Amino acid sequence: MTNKNMPVQGRNQVIIFLGPPGAGKGTQAERLASEFQLTKISTGDILRDHVARQSPLGQQIAPILKSGQLVPDDILIALIRDRLANMDNIRVIFDGFPRTLAQAGALDLLLEELGAPIVAVPLLEVPDQLLIDRIVERGRQAVQRGETPRPDDNEETARERQIVYHRETQPLIDYYAARGHLKPVDGEGSMDDVYGRIRQTLG
Ligand code: AMP
Repeated sequence: MTNKNMPVQGRNQVIIFLGPPGAGKGTQAERLASEFQLTKISTGDILRDHVARQSPLGQQIAPILKSGQLVPDDILIALIRDRLANMDNIRVIFDGFPRTLAQAGALDLLLEELGAPIVAVPLLEVPDQLLIDRIVERGRQAVQRGETPRPDDNEETARERQIVYHRETQPLIDYYAARGHLKPVDGEGSMDDVYGRIRQTLG
């Protein structure tokens, strides 16, 4: 499939995946990253890795992740600044960042410094109750595979994460719509169907 608007090899560009917890951002971002040779940066994965390694940061944020609240903006912004500073080409898909207006503003400044434009912000739209079901199911499947489930993949924390999303992250929808970057996508259905829709909106 050729597409004049899709990422071009070697050129700095940034895609931001927006959507509530459980919408499937991680999986879809992964697929897009491998198709277009972009680096996926998942802040949830990075933070969970700190917790697993029991780094000083990990010890500080473990209770926050468990509660479903957000880790403070300054920590996230420093973390992303570090990651981007070490890249030759800024060809990136963000999964789970930014999550607040303060993070979005800081990211804009950083990307301007680095000369890396945001090319699209796909928004995965999924009804709230379906999201809770998916998260609870993800936790159950991890247990079934003999793995330790994410500490926040349970119904109580899922509901809290949803409240936090509506309060802190939803304002980013208007923020990116106003800049012409927002690409709403129906996030219901099979992974392949949703991926097809994402690919279409990026065209
Ligand atoms: P996720 O895997 O994206 O659902 O993130 C899991 C948890 O990590 C969230 O519930 C937050 O506690 C924390 N987290 C991940 N990304 C961010 C972010 N951009 N800002 C603040 N906290 C975050």
